[in-house]
Amino acid sequence: MNYQELADNIKIWANDLGFQKVGICDVNLQEHEAALQKWLDAGYHGSMDWMARHGMMRARPDELLPGTVRVISVRMDYLPPKAQFATNLVDPTQAYISRYALGRDYHKLIRNQLKKLGQRIEQEVGSFGYRPFVDSAPILERPLAQKAGLGWTGKHSLILDKECGSWFFLGELLIDLPLPVDTPSEDQCGKCKACMTSCPTNAIIEEGIVDARRCISYLTIEYDGVIPEEFRKPMGNRIYGCDDCQLVCPWNRFSSLTDQDDFHRRQSLQNPDLIALFAWDEASFLKNMEGSAIRRIGHVQWLRNLSIAMGNAPYSQDIVEALQMRIGISPVLDEHIEWALAQQRQQIKEKSGIDITHQRLIRVINKGIPRDA
Ligand code: SF4
Ligand code: SF4
Repeated sequence: MNYQELADNIKIWANDLGFQKVGICDVNLQEHEAALQKWLDAGYHGSMDWMARHGMMRARPDELLPGTVRVISVRMDYLPPKAQFATNLVDPTQAYISRYALGRDYHKLIRNQLKKLGQRIEQEVGSFGYRPFVDSAPILERPLAQKAGLGWTGKHSLILDKECGSWFFLGELLIDLPLPVDTPSEDQCGKCKACMTSCPTNAIIEEGIVDARRCISYLTIEYDGVIPEEFRKPMGNRIYGCDDCQLVCPWNRFSSLTDQDDFHRRQSLQNPDLIALFAWDEASFLKNMEGSAIRRIGHVQWLRNLSIAMGNAPYSQDIVEALQMRIGISPVLDEHIEWALAQQRQQIKEKSGIDITHQRLIRVINKGIPRDA
């Protein structure tokens, strides 16, 4: 078996399957175990108990799938055309949704493509051990991606590549073939700290370390409880995820657009008006979010997130009435609605609009974001 030739072919096949970059690494992540344990011990994973439950298995792919000796790490770009970062983020009457979630859920697509890659390899080498993983699996996908040469781990803890920035998904195919490995990527952040200083909730507590409990992505997606008050104003109009740390990153000036139609903005999110989205009943939410990752958070959490954004919007009688109509669905939601109504009342008193404190982000937006039309 000529493993070098096979590795070269795997990269060609993976590109044909829609992956923009592919790398191969071994399974030794020992150097990351202490940091992972420290992060878990500090409780930075919040209510994501499954992270602690899986423990060090996340750093040991060969425990997850016995016999694994290599990981094929893949990248799929998701930035849709007409990203409209500024249009949505700066207009407090609109909802901001993380750009990865505007279209279809990526898990199924990437897992299917990885499975096809495994089958293509099988055609070549005969039966072998492999299993695809995407995102939520108990695996340290970012250190693996860095090892495989897909990019380095930025100070915001995401992987970025100097040719394309960070707007991409990662996936892994665990295999039992001893392919030659690629050269790991080197850190290119330098002295930049833009992501750290721009984070609305100061969630990046140290270089490369995010306290998920402070991160808007965690709070709006993973966490279904009462969002601590200290984060509600900084959340602004971000109702599902947050892209600020990527938005300000200088390397994202070179980002590429997705060639997957699935990741384009879906029709029901073309005009993300807060009041219109809040008016969806549960049936409309489920229908409009069919095939979307957003559907997983459920209608009540959707309303909870929107009610915070509505509290942060400039005073409007329509907002007040819409909020009042939703009282009584759940105690958690009621708490956020009461807060939002209090914010609205406060704004009448102060006659002021949204308190936009993220000056650096606004400066970046004013400079013009590529492809923001
Ligand atoms: S996603 Fe938003 S809240 Fe989370 S670390 Fe990045 S900038 Fe901060
Ligand atoms: S904003 Fe700066 S520090 Fe943060 S990931 Fe990008 S280059 Fe690195």
